[in-house]
Amino acid sequence: FTLRDPLTAKDQGVKFADVAGLQEAKQEVMELVSYLRDQKRYRALGAKIPKGVLMLGPPGCGKTLLAKAIATEASVPFLSMAGTEFVEMIGGLGAARVRDLFKEARRRAPCIIYIDEIDAIGRKRSGGSGGGAAGGGSGEEEQTLNQLLVEMDGMGSSEGVMVLASTNRPDILDRALQRPGRFDRHITIDSPTLQDRKEIFEVYLKKIKLKGDVGKFAGHFAKLTPGMTGADIANVVNEAAIHAATALKPIVDRTDFEAALERVVAGQEKKTNMLS
Ligand code: ATP
Repeated sequence: FTLRDPLTAKDQGVKFADVAGLQEAKQEVMELVSYLRDQKRYRALGAKIPKGVLMLGPPGCGKTLLAKAIATEASVPFLSMAGTEFVEMIGGLGAARVRDLFKEARRRAPCIIYIDEIDAIGRKRSGGSGGGAAGGGSGEEEQTLNQLLVEMDGMGSSEGVMVLASTNRPDILDRALQRPGRFDRHITIDSPTLQDRKEIFEVYLKKIKLKGDVGKFAGHFAKLTPGMTGADIANVVNEAAIHAATALKPIVDRTDFEAALERVVAGQEKKTNMLS
């Protein structure tokens, strides 16, 4: 897993200002920042700080970005792992990695553990407490999931470790994961709305040399990009800058964006055709 030094996170990390749109989700995560920053105050009143938060939503819409921003704004270390890392593991290695991750997190508390694509290990188990036989994992995945549950159950809410996990497949998750004391809080991060897309464009347009007004550009291109995610928009802006640079232009203009948009949309169509 990757470790993020608290200082690095504070000085160079993703801030709330870098996460465009997502007003409701941001509002909800402010509360998490406050818990992490001010644990003593909550504990003094007997409040239990949530141990697990599930972030739900389609890929590329800012779940990881928001999780990183929480760590930066709360000035705590960010330890992350991807559920998919465990798919190829054998011989109990996955469970051992989970154990090590939590050990490190407790040592560095207050801190955040982020598990991307938790569905890769958190699928409904074939028998027992998960209920139902949808999907089911290999023995290794099941062991990894069990270890995660053991770690979360064994962790007191006063330890200052908050586990954030993301998924775009809540329907296939083992219900045991969402029991009280585990991932009992949910935050939904939907595909960006028109206003969100405008704000995302603004964030990325400010980073390039643009011919024209950022606000007007953002409004115009937000309207042309329904269905695009934050990741797609970041890609469009970057492609536009590359297009301009390739043409040896000193500044990025509207025609570069039109070309970039065409390229990104064509790329998406190709991907869809290959999958279908
Ligand atoms: P996945 O489930 O595939 O990991 P995700 O929801 O975690 O997706 P991110 O990794 O956070 O998505 O987003 C990918 C990239 O897209 C970010 O690094 C960022 O550049 C851009 N992005 C996505 N959403 C936003 C947003 N709301 N504001 C600014 N940038 C965004």
